[in-house]
Order: sequence, then C-alpha cells, then structure tokens
Amino acid sequence: VPEGVVVEEAPCMGLCDHAPASLPGKGVVSDAILHEDYPVLARCRSGELPRDEVLAELERAGLRGMGGAGFPTARKWRAVAARPGPRLVVVNADEGEPGTFKDRWFLQTNAARVLEGALIAAWAVEADEVYLYLRDEYADLHKLLTVLIRALPGSVPVHLRRGAGAYVCGEESALIESLEGKRGLPRQRPPYVAEVGLFGRPTVVNNVETLYWVSRILAEGAELFTDEGRNGHRGLRTYSVSGRVRLPGVKIAPNGITITELIEEFCGGMEDGHQLRAYLPGGASGGFLPAHVTPPLAFGAIEEHGGFIGSAAVVVFSQEDDLRAHALNLARFFAHESCGQCTPCRVGTAKAADLLASPRWDEDLLNDLAQVMRDASICGLGQAAPNVWQSLLRHFPEVVT
Ligand code: SF4
Repeated sequence: VPEGVVVEEAPCMGLCDHAPASLPGKGVVSDAILHEDYPVLARCRSGELPRDEVLAELERAGLRGMGGAGFPTARKWRAVAARPGPRLVVVNADEGEPGTFKDRWFLQTNAARVLEGALIAAWAVEADEVYLYLRDEYADLHKLLTVLIRALPGSVPVHLRRGAGAYVCGEESALIESLEGKRGLPRQRPPYVAEVGLFGRPTVVNNVETLYWVSRILAEGAELFTDEGRNGHRGLRTYSVSGRVRLPGVKIAPNGITITELIEEFCGGMEDGHQLRAYLPGGASGGFLPAHVTPPLAFGAIEEHGGFIGSAAVVVFSQEDDLRAHALNLARFFAHESCGQCTPCRVGTAKAADLLASPRWDEDLLNDLAQVMRDASICGLGQAAPNVWQSLLRHFPEVVT
C-alpha cells in the first residue's frame, strides 16, 4: 500500500471477501485487488519509464482504441499533450453496443489494471483529473470502483460518474456532454475532443479495454501484441461472443482470427444441431455476414463486405434463427436510441423500422434512406444503422424479398 493511503479507513461496503455473507456484493473485492500497488504507474512516476518510452512502446505494439473506432492510442495521447493545458482524461465505461460485454468483464476481473492505465494516460499527457463514466446498469462495478478509487495512490483526482442508460452516450462527444450535465447529444466535429473536450479542455477519451492493454503492454512489453495476430493482422483482440455456440463469453484471441476459427478454437464449436448461418461481427452496428464470408475479424477487414468490427461483439446465428426478425429488432433499437438531434437519423431510423416490418422490403427505398443517413447524420449511430438492412439485402436477399 503506498505511503499515505490508509486502506482500512475506506468503508467496507460489503465487497471484501471477509464481509458478512448477508451483504450484497460480497466477494467483489479481494484483499489482493484492494492492495494493488500499480507497479507500472510507479515506474512512470519515478522516471524509470520516461514518457517518450511509454509512447514508443504503445506505438510498437500498435495499440488502437478498442471501443470501436480503432484510433491509435499513442497518437491520441500525443495530440492531447501537444495542446495547452489544463488537460483531462475520460475513461469510457459506457459499454452499450448490443452483444458487447467485454468491458464489464475487464472491470470485474482487472479493474486495477484499467485504473492504472487511466492514471498512466493522465501522467503521459499531464492531465489534472480523470473522469470515469460508467454504464449505470453495472451497479456492482460502481461499488467496486468506488472502493478502488478511494485507495488509489497519488494525487490525480479520479471522479466516478454514472451514465443514465443512453446508448448514444458511448459516443465520446455525447459522453462528454453528459459529463458536463447536459443532454447526451453528439457534437459536430471539428473541433475534436482532443482539442476541445470536457469543459472545453483538451481531453483523452479511452475505452476500458484500451487502458487495460496500456497497463499490460507496459508491464510485459510490446511483444505481448507484436507476437500475436493472425491472417495478416497483429495483436490481441477481445471478442464478446454470444448466440449459438457451445461456450459463449469473453474470448481474448489473436486479432484477425476468422469467425470459423473463433468458434472452433475458442467457443467449443456450434451448439448441437446448429450450423453457422450468419453472424454479426460488430454488434448491432456491424451488419450481418453469411457463414461463407470469413474475413479477419479486425479493424479495416470487414468494410468491403458491408460491415465493420467495432467493439468486436460477435453474435452467432444458425438455421434456426429468423434473420428478418433480428434485423427488425435492431432497427427498432436504433430508432429508440436515436438522440433526435439530426433529421436523417431521427426520421430515418423510425422510417426504417416501419419499412422493415412490412412483409416485403422495398429495396430501392431502403437504399435511398441508407444513403441519406450515411451522408448526413451527425454521428456514427445514424451512419451505421443502415448496415442492418443493407447487409441483409446484400447477403441474404432470399429472406427479405
Ligand atoms: Fe443523434 Fe442520430 Fe444524429 Fe447521432 S446521428 S446526433 S444519434 S440523431
């Protein structure tokens, strides 16, 4: 325990292993986690690990943002560090993409590493404060993080903030608006949040998983990523796998693995009696792909097939699944979650949900609608929502006409 931190003064909150069995959340925090000593952060702060070396190591590893956008992490930090202070760091823990549950797992199992990554980011860009924006449905994690944050070493204040259930607040500028106490409406860019972010300050916004890898790469070396990868891609990737597989769950696998490799090697194969028919490579936003289309599940590899990897939420469907019904469900999800700020998305998502409910899809009209939404929506929600129907029209015409 670092000097000056008095752990026993932190309220137990019923989370420790030795808490009374009747308390909710018992066992969430083990003594080992509570007494984490953040060794990489200590090396950074002591000067043993200089700033340039940290950035160079992350670049050598090729670490990119795992929230879905895939922006190179070190480049983002450099951009913020180059702006005049004061600066801020925001941890995006508002995981909301349907099918994605990896950030929850990282926080449940490795919260100290995530916090260490956030504090390293703050140290690297000389930020004054860190804000952690947590999806409110993760109530158990709120308790866990409260305890860990109270026991953190050092002086950078870390503020824990709760989301309020809006999917769009996973988008970084909407998240920042929400942190500022306003409605979570995505901002027009430029300026980018690295220039004008939270409270108008240059801001690093990093996803939970990204910060976890920051800590591990700096602890174990860039080889953690450079030695891994498959099918022309480098690194590790965390796939949230659900649907018709024997062993769904969080799978840390070589970046660039294909759907068939992922199912066979990491998920125990398909469920008995089910054959792979289709899958979502990137949650609701990533579009449907058919079984015979097996690109590497990596940034930049899915687009030519009409989708994208995003946060790597892989949802597996079989011959038993009604793809039309799933598409309609996703379209209704987007209509519900549209923030309403811009007309192409507000009207387009609602219109699409109506069109997808009709017995026969109007392909021309749906393609026109998709074009307008992609061209004129402010943020990724409205731009990606058309993947739902355009991927089915492209790969599964037999189910929609
Ligand atoms: Fe809001 Fe949709 Fe426009 Fe994004 S695209 S700003 S979610 S209305």
